[in-house]
Amino acid sequence: MSRPKSKLRKDYKTIHTPKSKNPKRAYWFLFGLGVSVIGMNFFLPENNNVDEPKRTLEVSKVIKESDPQTTKRILNEEIEDDPAIVTPVKNPENYNNIKLMIEPRDNLEYLFKKNKIDLGNLSEIMQLADAQKYLRLLKPGDLIEINIDQGKVINLKKKLNLTDTLFIAKTNNKFLSEVIKRPIEIKKKFGHGIIKSSLYESAAKSGLTDKLIMNLADIYAWDIDFVYDIRIDDTFYVLYEEIWQDGKYITDGEIIISEFNNNGRKLKAIRFKDKNENLEYFNPEGQSMQKAFLKAPVDSARISSGFNPNRKHPVLNTIRAHRGVDYAAPRGTRIKAVSDGTVIFRGNKGNYGKTIILKHGRNITTLYAHMSNYAKAAKPGRSVNQGQTIGYIGSTGLATGPHVHYEYRVNEVHKNPSKVKTPRAQPIKDEFRNQFHGISQSLLDELNNYKNTQNIALLRN
Ligand SMILES: [Zn+2]
Repeated sequence: MSRPKSKLRKDYKTIHTPKSKNPKRAYWFLFGLGVSVIGMNFFLPENNNVDEPKRTLEVSKVIKESDPQTTKRILNEEIEDDPAIVTPVKNPENYNNIKLMIEPRDNLEYLFKKNKIDLGNLSEIMQLADAQKYLRLLKPGDLIEINIDQGKVINLKKKLNLTDTLFIAKTNNKFLSEVIKRPIEIKKKFGHGIIKSSLYESAAKSGLTDKLIMNLADIYAWDIDFVYDIRIDDTFYVLYEEIWQDGKYITDGEIIISEFNNNGRKLKAIRFKDKNENLEYFNPEGQSMQKAFLKAPVDSARISSGFNPNRKHPVLNTIRAHRGVDYAAPRGTRIKAVSDGTVIFRGNKGNYGKTIILKHGRNITTLYAHMSNYAKAAKPGRSVNQGQTIGYIGSTGLATGPHVHYEYRVNEVHKNPSKVKTPRAQPIKDEFRNQFHGISQSLLDELNNYKNTQNIALLRN
């Protein structure tokens, strides 16, 4: 049963140029995923840029959203020469090139003053419709490049998104503006890997980017716990998009179809976009890769205490936030997992008494406290299904009577479980079913062809 895996990896490398510039970061990501607090924004900003040509947020409102990673990347991209932009000046080397990186609370007037650039020029520029549209509201990380001659603006440019750049230049004593388009090209790429230690390590070795692997982990987060469930020799295959511009690779785009072979399970996920471009992944049967949540962890129980950040604690008699919902029911009543997940904690937890914590998907956890007993199958590291019994109602820890204290957290932040919007987990809508099956069949064929070529290559070696 031994597999010549190193050759497979080598074969793979001949097809793909490694792009992971900083493999060390991959380990950091693994750690991050393990504690399940990575936000989506961390690996999606480039996609956002593609989809959002307009900067519409005011500087003051987006300070918190400023992402140093994105900022750095944008800066690096911007500084590269832009062959599509024809600068209508004779001797550009005589001009001073100034790159203005927008920081929180910056505005153009301040930056012009600071760099001793003519403020009259700025007010002329700001009369242009394009300038009002794209320069009035700036956000941290935006970069504006200006060529000046003795303090006078010759031209100015600002990259608006992956395809569009605003270009303003003085021609015949008058400022004119233009939005220059540089189309992107989307290339389809295959990749695959064999897991030898962690998903991230194997992906980095295969030359796949952190971003792609984060997206892959996110798609399967409901089915696979990337800390507990991963086994040596698990494999994955992925067909994904690469975004190119002017013959250069820019970034990875979306995953189109993928297969993950985990511990004997074969999982497949197919991208589907409805007419509003809403992106969701489904298995070949049309079931969502995300899983549904039950409203409550107990059948026929009554809520004895709701979610209340200012509650007076019934036993301690002090103001103490109640960050969960209490369901009272007779001792021994079954407590159910509200969704598919993994047991990440089981044990005595101070005032909580006998407690189980489940992890669902990438960033949701649920907690069940005051149990009289645990269900045998709900062992730490084990996965549980929605509705499966994980324990029984009791009053261990600090409790006035038998109940389950139930908490729901997103990225470690407590949410009111009766108000929270749980993930969409509906199967493909009937109106899209035929379209989905057409798409998925041809993608599954494409994936299988790729897998076959990989196996042939493996045999040849
Ligand atoms: Zn409670």
